[in-house]
Amino acid sequence: MSVVVTRFAPSPTGFLHAGNYRTAVFAYLFAKHTGGSFVLRIEDTDKERSKPEYEANILESLAWLDLPADRRYRQSDNTARYRELLEKSVAAGIAYVSKETPRNPGDREEVIRFKNPGGAVSFVDGIRGEITMDVSDLGDFVIARSFDEPVFHFAVVVDDADEGITHVIRGEDHIANTPRQILLQRALGFPLPAYAHLPLILNPDRTKLSKRKGAKALTEYRDQGMLPEAMLNYLAFLGWNPGDEREYLSRKELIEAFDLTRIQKGSAIFDEIKLLSVNQHWMRALSDEDFAARGDFQTSDPGRLRSVVPLLKERAHTFQEAREMLSGELACFFREPVLEHDKLTAKELPNCPDNMTKSALEELLELVEALPEGVSAGAVKDALMPRADAEEKKGKGGRGAILWPLRYALSGQERSPDPFTLISILGPKEAVSRIQKAIAILEG
Ligand code: GLU
Repeated sequence: MSVVVTRFAPSPTGFLHAGNYRTAVFAYLFAKHTGGSFVLRIEDTDKERSKPEYEANILESLAWLDLPADRRYRQSDNTARYRELLEKSVAAGIAYVSKETPRNPGDREEVIRFKNPGGAVSFVDGIRGEITMDVSDLGDFVIARSFDEPVFHFAVVVDDADEGITHVIRGEDHIANTPRQILLQRALGFPLPAYAHLPLILNPDRTKLSKRKGAKALTEYRDQGMLPEAMLNYLAFLGWNPGDEREYLSRKELIEAFDLTRIQKGSAIFDEIKLLSVNQHWMRALSDEDFAARGDFQTSDPGRLRSVVPLLKERAHTFQEAREMLSGELACFFREPVLEHDKLTAKELPNCPDNMTKSALEELLELVEALPEGVSAGAVKDALMPRADAEEKKGKGGRGAILWPLRYALSGQERSPDPFTLISILGPKEAVSRIQKAIAILEG
């Protein structure tokens, strides 16, 4: 087989959603799997709707996913080439300039039409098998509005041939365009590429994934703090699998395993919940150092941040969530708690004496003072839990009457990690100082 060349050919007429990039992922992986090259073609023939910001977003998205193109160009840079071939086509009698009767204001009086030979066109699609369509009904279809304005079909066919594209991998919505493009390839004497039309991507409710239905631009996931390796992994599995049990494949493993034969025929479901769990997997796979470095965390205490990373790995599905936790339920690791007297005593049992919280905290204080630096949460629990259990024996809910004020004294927050985790990360010294402040408030 000659060297594979694939392409991704987005139109910069809007922000592309994650599903659109699945096409780029498949085209890239297949090219790299076979040692071939991957071309990025910006299809900007629609001058009104194409916008530089959309093109910039496409480049950013591909850079984020780390799908570098071996060659990249815009169709608007190729106008001279299209003109040359349009003129040749007309001269050769493949196409002709057709006089039109304008129906609407602004309609052309002249367009260039292809002389359609009619009949049936067949091609073998790498995913769906043989597809045959009768092209007679298409009539002499328009291939350019003027010599400088080819329409989509003509430009695609010229570019695919000029770039030596061997495999056209694109969405199933383009199946209907293929016979028209094959007619043009034949007429122009171009080689026919292989085709693989990818199954649709649906929302969990089986409606089509689309911007109109609220699908997000891919870069929104980046901004939300997803890892590109997670997104790449997720997109590669939208309609493909490696044929074994593996669910999490690195970029290198994907390139090794990817193959067009295992692309499924049925539509794939874009499920954000699954995507979040894939992202969590990749976040957890980072070393604590890498996690802290890649999370874009604004913190004045990097050492403390590092010790909080295991908690973030347990809880967060995205880095944005992790950042929110640092200013929410985990904020107590980075600032002194501001305590309210009534919250300290909020869980006291009705039948307990008034000063129960204070005396319990004093007892716990002694136990915490005896803990070594660097103590694990498990060891803290072993040291303190018997005191809480003793309280539970006195009455149901007694454990909370001890653990709540301890946790609140340490965090100043209604929600936080458990007190053992807090003590282990704060260290016994800082924990002691916080407990002492709580006792002082209860004395006051
Ligand atoms: N520009 C087309 C699109 O964005 C893709 C054309 C193709 O892949 O042939 O849908």
